[in-house]
Amino acid sequence: MSDPSRPSSAKIIAIANQKGGVGKTTTTINLGAALAERGLRVLVVDLDPQGNSSTGLGIEPGEREYTSYELLLDDVPLNEVVQSTAQENLSLIPATVDLSSADVELVSNEKRSFLLHDALRQPDIDFFRFDYILIDCPPSLNLLTVNAMVAAHSVLVPLQSEFFALEGLSQLMLTIREVRQSANPDLRIEGVLLTMFDARNNLSRQVEDDARDNLGDLVFSTVIPRNVRVSEAPSYAIPVLTYDSQSKGAVAYRALADELLRKNAKLAA
Ligand code: ADP
Ligand code: MG
Repeated sequence: MSDPSRPSSAKIIAIANQKGGVGKTTTTINLGAALAERGLRVLVVDLDPQGNSSTGLGIEPGEREYTSYELLLDDVPLNEVVQSTAQENLSLIPATVDLSSADVELVSNEKRSFLLHDALRQPDIDFFRFDYILIDCPPSLNLLTVNAMVAAHSVLVPLQSEFFALEGLSQLMLTIREVRQSANPDLRIEGVLLTMFDARNNLSRQVEDDARDNLGDLVFSTVIPRNVRVSEAPSYAIPVLTYDSQSKGAVAYRALADELLRKNAKLAA
């Protein structure tokens, strides 16, 4: 029987916000881990030269022979750049600092915005049969982020529950609109996710109210709390779901995965 939570081909989600430190990498790793825990086959694409999602998933710089750079710019096929991680069903295309020059190198490339789109649609991808591909974007609206948005079906936007959280969002929405017009008319917004939420803090609640007033249903019901276990997990190079399975952070990321699966099952119906 076909499982409604399992897309018929990989669903590609870009996790983007040009602000640094808002929870893009944390969300990529832990939403990926939560979906994988549910039995879905997940690929994380690290598209940030800082390589934080690669480190956070336990792939050391020395183990990153082929990376998203080679996938985009050297035509290295998918089966050589995809690595498995310690968690079942969770694979990774790592990144290294090499990727920081890609933005400049891409400019002169005729297909500069479509390189990731094309790379993720190689026949090889069928061999892996991924259900979800999560792209961890750099903290910038550069060509790498545009590649992610052109390749993706949707964009998930983490918002840190802090003052100025909504600032910069209009720039991000403008970029999404431009990508729709120029390259990817069907690009959707998967949702806006409040991260590092502190219920005891008035400011956090104010940001949540503002976000829900302005963005309505686009905001996920699930909110990710600020939780020290979430920030500790990367130093052990594992998702918080593995590091402390019952922590508030792990529970919240599982709830996010379930909310996302419910939404997508509804869309598919
Ligand atoms: P980005 O990828 O957007 O730059 P990160 O995911 O790296 O942001 O998060 C920035 C910092 O905040 C990291 O040190 C991370 O461990 C920490 N962090 C992220 N989410 C949480 C959370 N829910 N609770 C506590 N710390 C968090
Ligand atoms: Mg990051």
